Amino acid sequence: QKLKAGLDKTRKGMTDKIDAILRSYGKIDEELFDDLEEILVTADVGINTTMEIIDRLKNRVKEEKISEPDKVRELLKEEIKKIMEESEGDNKLKIGSSPTVILMVGVNGVGKTTTIGKLSYNFKKQGKKVIIAAGDTFRAAAIEQLEEWSNRSGADFVKHSEGADPAAVIFDGIQAAKARKADVLICDTAGRLHNKKNLMNELSKIFRVVNSEFPEAEKEVLLVLDATTGQNAISQAKVFKEVCDITGVVLTKLDGTAKGGVVIALQSELGLPVKLVGIGEKIDDLQEFNVEDFVEAIFD
Ligand code: GDP
Repeated sequence: QKLKAGLDKTRKGMTDKIDAILRSYGKIDEELFDDLEEILVTADVGINTTMEIIDRLKNRVKEEKISEPDKVRELLKEEIKKIMEESEGDNKLKIGSSPTVILMVGVNGVGKTTTIGKLSYNFKKQGKKVIIAAGDTFRAAAIEQLEEWSNRSGADFVKHSEGADPAAVIFDGIQAAKARKADVLICDTAGRLHNKKNLMNELSKIFRVVNSEFPEAEKEVLLVLDATTGQNAISQAKVFKEVCDITGVVLTKLDGTAKGGVVIALQSELGLPVKLVGIGEKIDDLQEFNVEDFVEAIFD
């Protein structure tokens, strides 16, 4: 229900428009498909994915000899679901019996700090021991804000001072996670995209530390993206994909946009599974993502 509320704007901007179009047509023709295509592209579903969906729709309409426009809705829902399910990658976070290290990457302002706090809160609610390592040492304010969220969620916090080596902070985080038998270690990282080489160096150093110091841990590299930035989020995803092995996406601020179709594009166009979605500013506004619930929520 919360996911549904978080997708209110997308439902209004995408599904309600689809419904209006389907109602306005007396028969299924090329123009109807053009209109549907435009709605999907406008909702940031992505050009390639949109064209694939429309092609499949056309085929099914032909093969199943469908003539009433209102029948197209169910087909569209099914095809969106299928195309998302076909993409590789698991939507579920890898949280098992062994400890998990979650590296959070993404540019500033997308909601990374808030997401770490929310994620930690979710784990704490499940009775897990959580440690947060403040690997974005670039700004003192970033460390302070993260510490506040950490306290609010009930996690332990590992930090160095401003300007310290991020890999050294993560190293300490790992030692703390081992000593205190933590279930989850969430590591913040700096996200300055204007210098791709620096970003790559910094992240690969952190990855090396995690792999050598904590080989037994499950690893997740979660890219945090702001859904309200639409195509910009897609571009960021492409750059980060080049720089490191992303295992999943956290899409924030889904509540603030009609362009929730970006979920579909990320998943099927870039092969990046969406694992979590942010649907508000409060600590309990982070939800696990799965295709079924998402499609039901936008087509309900
Ligand atoms: P960071 O710079 O990436 O660490 O971003 P912050 O975590 O400081 O978040 C930036 C702004 O986005 C803050 O005002 C947050 O409250 C807001 N924010 C983060 N996630 C969400 C979300 O899911 N929904 C909404 N509406 N706002 C969010």
